[in-house]
Amino acid sequence: MPKLILWDIDGTIIVSHGAGFRAMVRALTERFGATVDMGKIDWAGRTDSWIAGEVLRLVGLPDTLQNTHDFLEAYLEILPQELRVGRPGQVLPGILELLETLRVRPDVVQGLLTGNLERGARLKLTHHKVWHYFAFGAYADDSPRRNDLGPHALRRAKEKYAVEFAPDRTFIIGDTPHDIECGKVIGAQTIAVATGKYSVTELAAHNPSAVFPDFADTAAFLRVIGLA
Ligand SMILES: [Mg+2]
Repeated sequence: MPKLILWDIDGTIIVSHGAGFRAMVRALTERFGATVDMGKIDWAGRTDSWIAGEVLRLVGLPDTLQNTHDFLEAYLEILPQELRVGRPGQVLPGILELLETLRVRPDVVQGLLTGNLERGARLKLTHHKVWHYFAFGAYADDSPRRNDLGPHALRRAKEKYAVEFAPDRTFIIGDTPHDIECGKVIGAQTIAVATGKYSVTELAAHNPSAVFPDFADTAAFLRVIGLA
């Protein structure tokens, strides 16, 4: 039975240096004429649909399905522009080597488990030329609660590969305590990486299966998932 690797995006595969933030701030202004201080939102490791609700509440707009939809549609329209301006984002150290190493192995499949909307994930990862590595995913479209996304990812993996992936052969990779928690709630192994806003020490306090400063050491990652 193959192993299942589920990747977070922001702070794990790529950094965008605030492109997503700027797109959200602009979306709120251009669609609702309001301004938001994104610094007031505990955004790291959250889903975009959860963040949308927080943004709307913070500026006193009703947190309705329509407002959330309108805000996120505006965000997705603006995001490609923001990905192209300001300090360029980048694929994080070791990621390309890992994605390529895992892609050619018959005993692994890899997908996404991300707080991005599916369209946002596609925009960001296409911009960085790594979208083609991921045949399926679980996204903020599935639920605003990250802890709900694990079961969606397992279901999609089963649909795609006609294999039931055991949670203990599933690895959730991410840069925040929320990633670790959403892996634990489905009994998956969790691999944390300190390329986002949290340090190795902070992540280790949440007891992931493993924690790395970054993924530059491909062999060390493969050992952790039992493929070395
Ligand atoms: Mg992240």
